[in-house]
Amino acid sequence: MVNDALCPLCSEDRESTIHLLARCSFAQIMWRLSPLGINMNSIQGDSVFDWWDNLLERWKGMKENKNVWAAVGYIVWRIWKCRNNVVFNNKLWRPDAACTAAICEATDFLKSNEQLPRIGDSGHATIVGELVEWKKPLNGWVKINFDGGLDKHRKSSGLGIMIKDSCGHFRAARGLHYGYLMSPVVLEAMAA
Ligand SMILES: [Zn+2]
Repeated sequence: MVNDALCPLCSEDRESTIHLLARCSFAQIMWRLSPLGINMNSIQGDSVFDWWDNLLERWKGMKENKNVWAAVGYIVWRIWKCRNNVVFNNKLWRPDAACTAAICEATDFLKSNEQLPRIGDSGHATIVGELVEWKKPLNGWVKINFDGGLDKHRKSSGLGIMIKDSCGHFRAARGLHYGYLMSPVVLEAMAA
């Protein structure tokens, strides 16, 4: 970061880390529009460390709230990405769009880290150790996930299709059931 250069996001002040994260008008809009709804002018600090300490002090009752910290982390990360997008690609995001992207990313992160209960061999619910992370599609696209399943005891087959958008929001789903066994290859092909 060049200290005597103007901030690429607002062109109102010299660029510094504390300016970029907390004092920049671009960043302040993002913080205020986010679910955190915070006015960063109310958090004192001339250095990043002082600012961060004061932020922790403000939210000391929420140390265990991972939603808050996921949002903070992804907003900071998105501010940095927006800054780089101006510097390297000459493209400026709108702060409201940047805020939405950050919160989508935080939501995806939290969802992908949820531990899903599963019924183990003993019949008791156990926790799945490894989950395959769902990755969102590019902006403006939807992702279609599908899979088929066979039940050899009941001699039946089924398939499920789910569509989610670039924010990870559910858009549509469909399940189909067949009263006979199909080959897995045919079933996967039908789902596709
Ligand atoms: Zn700025």
